Amino acid sequence: MNGNSLVVVKVGGGEGIDLEAVCADVAAWVTKGRRFLLVHGGSHATNEAATALGHPPRFITSPSGFTSRLTDRRTLEIMEMVYCGQINKGIVERLQGAGVNAIGLCGLDGGLWRGPRKQTVRALVGENGRSRLIRDNLTGKVEAVNISLLHSLLDNGYLPVLTAPALSYRGEAINVDGDRAAAATAVALAATHLLILSNVPGLLRHFPDETSLIPAVAAHELETVGQRYAQGRMHIKLLAAREALAGGVGQVTLGDARSRQPLTRTLAGQGTVIQGERV
Ligand code: ADP
Repeated sequence: MNGNSLVVVKVGGGEGIDLEAVCADVAAWVTKGRRFLLVHGGSHATNEAATALGHPPRFITSPSGFTSRLTDRRTLEIMEMVYCGQINKGIVERLQGAGVNAIGLCGLDGGLWRGPRKQTVRALVGENGRSRLIRDNLTGKVEAVNISLLHSLLDNGYLPVLTAPALSYRGEAINVDGDRAAAATAVALAATHLLILSNVPGLLRHFPDETSLIPAVAAHELETVGQRYAQGRMHIKLLAAREALAGGVGQVTLGDARSRQPLTRTLAGQGTVIQGERV
């Protein structure tokens, strides 16, 4: 990795993630001249806020096994409070406090992340797992990244801190998966590395046994390994890794964001390292 290469770091929003440690480590690397872009989630804090506000979270599972948040308008507003407010500004405050000129944006700002809204979502509901069409779901995926905006920020020494929602092609706010949005951003900016930091050490062979870490996976094995070992949300992380590698990112590492120096450890190869075929 040369000094000018860009690393995209996705920090999850699960329970136990230590944002303080992530920000301190980012700041230490920025001081040494490393360039970063941060993408973050906020799922756990959103669940807490939604419950406190009397609009508890609901999740749906697609027939292919992907679980996602059911995002009606009220849920989207609560997400905005937490993702774009509490978490995004908390990260910016910590980085600014450590001398890093961070700027927090969501995918709506400057049309940063754009893509199609899914008009309907097929989901399995009820105990018998019958499939149903859901229409009031404000979700979609990122297809286009406003790279000129990101380049102008990066070139002027800012560290972008990005989060959902994104902007649909029709101009609506849509919930998007943070791992896949980070992958799309890493591809668009030709990043050399994508680090996906979460509340597990990486991909585990026998989840939740943390001693069963799979240290390395080749890109061509990802699909089979995922089918065999991933459950729930881990499937989306592996899909994001596949998308990043297919788009030319050299390496994706799934690392742990629960303790000190999470970036340093992940950059040093702790976690599950997924190497692109072309490197
Ligand atoms: P984040 O909010 O940090 O992006 P997610 O909750 O989306 O993280 O995904 C990480 C979760 O994936 C872990 O907390 C764990 O519960 C789950 N998981 C499922 N299967 C595995 C596995 N084989 N190895 C590690 N984690 C797994």
